[in-house]
Amino acid sequence: MSPGVGGLIITIDGPAGSGKSSTAREVAQRLSFKHLDSGALYRALTYGLIEAGVAEEEWADLTVRELRGLGITLESTKTGFEVRLGGRLLVDELRSVEVTDRVSLLAGLPSVRECLIGLQREAGSGGFLIVDGRDMGTVVFPEAELKVYLIADLKERARRRLLENGREVFDDTDLAEEASALEERDDLDSGRAISPLKSPPGAVEIDTTNLSFEEQVSVIVELVNELTL
Ligand code: C5P
Repeated sequence: MSPGVGGLIITIDGPAGSGKSSTAREVAQRLSFKHLDSGALYRALTYGLIEAGVAEEEWADLTVRELRGLGITLESTKTGFEVRLGGRLLVDELRSVEVTDRVSLLAGLPSVRECLIGLQREAGSGGFLIVDGRDMGTVVFPEAELKVYLIADLKERARRRLLENGREVFDDTDLAEEASALEERDDLDSGRAISPLKSPPGAVEIDTTNLSFEEQVSVIVELVNELTL
């Protein structure tokens, strides 16, 4: 077990649109673990700054104290955690284009990483957590019992993201646009100096390009079951 943790921690990292959150949520449900989508915290901070009218050029100068002052909290529920801003539950707000376009810029700042790491570790303190993000296995939970790194071809990730966003009809131009937005975010996330996106040492790498959702969930459930047998 992870030191200081009363049960298993499973991390799922990977690039944008690789299906981390939906897979992690389903695996957690099947195993009666809790699920934490760490990206939601970075999105909440981005949303909070936009809403407070803080100009993007000023984000790099914000202190950890000022960022904490926005009041981002994680509230434990039966199945996972709700992200709140000043007590207000955030859900759809986190997925807006304004937030998605700016979140990677914010996530590269050391003060932001410092502001959010404690919340994530606290969420893992009871163990039995499946957590997804970019640095879960490398930085936040380096002692996790199982680390998964999910990848998929860029075009397939773009296709899934469009479907996820409710787009029923799309052409090659839409696909190319989505792919380029995902790639831009991946470049920022993997190129940054602090907590970059990368496959954690010892991770099980799963390419989901040709796997169905059910298959990718089953593979991970199997891996967890092998740990606990
Ligand atoms: O997972 P999701 O796409 O919602 O994450 C949004 C953004 O938050 C990522 O592109 C990345 O910039 C940031 N993030 C991060 N570290 C994490 C999770 C998300 O930097 N552990």
